[in-house]
Amino acid sequence: MTNEIMLSKLGFISIFPEMVSAITDWGVTGRAVRDGRCSIEVIDPREFATDKHGTVDDRPYGGGPGMVMTAPIMTAAVESAKNLLGDRAPVIAMSPQGQVVDERLLTTLLQQDSLIFVAGRYEGFDERFVSRSVDIELSVGDIVVSGGEIPAMLVMDSLIRRIPGVLGDELSAEQDSFVDGLLDCPHYTRPEIFEGEAVPSVLLSGDHARIADWRAAQSLKRTLERRPDLISEFDLSDEQRSLLARWEMQ
Ligand code: SAH
Repeated sequence: MTNEIMLSKLGFISIFPEMVSAITDWGVTGRAVRDGRCSIEVIDPREFATDKHGTVDDRPYGGGPGMVMTAPIMTAAVESAKNLLGDRAPVIAMSPQGQVVDERLLTTLLQQDSLIFVAGRYEGFDERFVSRSVDIELSVGDIVVSGGEIPAMLVMDSLIRRIPGVLGDELSAEQDSFVDGLLDCPHYTRPEIFEGEAVPSVLLSGDHARIADWRAAQSLKRTLERRPDLISEFDLSDEQRSLLARWEMQ
């Protein structure tokens, strides 16, 4: 299986469509959209409401607090997104009950041409919309926030920055945490001494091979210390073991 990145079109279904400006108007993701490396179609479910108030939700059967986003309206919003982005575009509904997003899942999503993100509000969606129209339910972690917009944009941002050409320096995405299964190494910039603390001398040595070794050892060390779940000591290659040992002695 190739890991080729195909993604260039995103759909964002939300009753607060203006929120998308958090990614379209700022920084790396904003530039990606302006340069046409990715496009974002924004769909407001209120367009499919049948009353003049633009109602998209209704009271839950069985009673209880909160409102539920209705199946007919959310289905119409997804159909409209598919008209714009293609029938095969996977539909991703944001939900605290979904699979928790991680790098492995992002890599699979990047292989699609288009993806449609659906942000919930209130108590979430009518379950029949989820079972009939949603391919993946995605969570950003074991917390509940008040709407799916920020979770969806968190994932969209993370996908967009992996599209080739989006990050100025092609290498920087590959060096980020998780991309190679490890946490990133620590970074330093000027001044050389800050409140008495100096930059590790190896970084000033100009010896690129040593610097690369040091960074690889730091990455490993941090991952073992902070996120041992990402790596089992048994997975370490002989080369990685000796790198760690070498830098630990210094
Ligand atoms: N009653 C729901 C929570 C609704 S929160 C439940 O307990 O499962 C309202 C919306 O916010 C959800 O429909 C979802 O789109 C979004 N949301 C909340 N927490 C989220 C999380 N951890 N990950 C992704 N989306 C989340």
